Amino acid sequence: MTHYHIIGAILAIWIISRIIERRRRRGKIVHLTSELCTACGRCTKRCKHHVFELVKEEKKSRLVATHLDKCTACGDCVKTCKFKALKIVSKHTQS
Ligand code: SF4
Ligand code: SF4
Repeated sequence: MTHYHIIGAILAIWIISRIIERRRRRGKIVHLTSELCTACGRCTKRCKHHVFELVKEEKKSRLVATHLDKCTACGDCVKTCKFKALKIVSKHTQS
């Protein structure tokens, strides 16, 4: 097998895995349980799409999903939250 075959095989596996992952996420979205959120802000730093923002209120901050439409359901924020305030749900559940 030449180097080109190996590179082609790796590329094909990568493309197929991306397609499978995209299909898995389709129809899903992040869901915030505000009662469990401590507004620590870890998820805001982790999300590449800036879905969440910390909004300052009188005495404390509150997490708000300001760009929920940008959520790709990647789950990075879910792994980051120590308080189990985030989870990935079906879009039908969310509404
Ligand atoms: S990481 Fe969890 S507790 Fe911290 S702001 Fe995000 S949702 Fe709230
Ligand atoms: S699931 Fe991914 S894209 Fe959606 S809010 Fe969390 S980190 Fe951002």
